[in-house]
Amino acid sequence: AKRAGRGSYHVYDLALDERTRDRHALGHAMREALQNDEFELYYQPFYEAETLTLVGYEALIRWNHPERGLVPPGEFIPVAEETGFIHVLGEWVLKKACREAITWPAGLTVSVNLSPVQFRRKALNSAVTSALSQSGLPAHRLELEITETVLLDETMANLATLKQLKSLGVRVSLDDFGVGYSSLSYLRTFPFDKLKIDRSFVNDLGTRDEALAIVRAVTGMGRSLGIKTTAEGVETEEQYACLREERCSYIQGYLFGRPQPVQRLAHLKDHDACG
Ligand code: C2E
Ligand code: CA
Ligand code: CA
Ligand code: CA
Repeated sequence: AKRAGRGSYHVYDLALDERTRDRHALGHAMREALQNDEFELYYQPFYEAETLTLVGYEALIRWNHPERGLVPPGEFIPVAEETGFIHVLGEWVLKKACREAITWPAGLTVSVNLSPVQFRRKALNSAVTSALSQSGLPAHRLELEITETVLLDETMANLATLKQLKSLGVRVSLDDFGVGYSSLSYLRTFPFDKLKIDRSFVNDLGTRDEALAIVRAVTGMGRSLGIKTTAEGVETEEQYACLREERCSYIQGYLFGRPQPVQRLAHLKDHDACG
């Protein structure tokens, strides 16, 4: 039994070693990629649910890898978080998003996803401040999307960070709402402007009664707390009809627009149509 134990430990060790090496290589490749300008922000529109008025865009990072093509964030953000590169990359995203958003019609907002790891640094506040001042974007046109992980660990420190961010005038929304452990007390303590109902619930609307119950509860709660709600991942007319019925504030999803490079955004298309 002892030998078997040692044997399997050895195998595990090797696997771990390989993973570390891969991670290391990917970490290195990301640093080079940033210098070579291989990262790009795609933007997905979101609209007022009732009127379908364009409200703004969410910035979603892509890696234009010379050999692998367009790499989605799910494949490199976790490694960037583990290696600490997310601080550099996150700052780049903030700057880029603000610089691009300043060229849009003045009513439009840009939403930037923040990693919970970025919250652990005091520098987050100054990164946001300098992205705003360098671009000239008014703070109220920047929205930061955070996930509830931020609420769970370092609660008090993160609450202080969140309040500082809010005092700059930026808006803060809670992403992927409903999938984790968020409770009503968090919503009372943390000054969120918006709740984004997770895609999984939107996806199940019309097929699972629980999904409708959750969407109804979240939109109702949002209304009574004065917090706006967004449904992400809307793909069908049926889902949209249901969300309108529940008086969700904003909608986002492939039905209305996919993430696009900045030169192909919805407001530009509207403009083209007119001229
Ligand atoms: P998220 O913030 O929840 O973003 C929504 C994801 O759903 C995006 O995937 C988007 O392309 C996708 N999506 C939007 N509408 C639909 C739809 O109708 N149907 C389906 N099936 N999918 C839809 P993406 O771009 O691959 O991003 C995945 C995650 O990576 C994001 O989830 C976010 O957590 C993270 N991420 C993206 N960009 C950044 C970034 O700049 N910084 C950080 N820290 N994380 C980022
Ligand atoms: Ca998001
Ligand atoms: Ca989300
Ligand atoms: Ca998500």
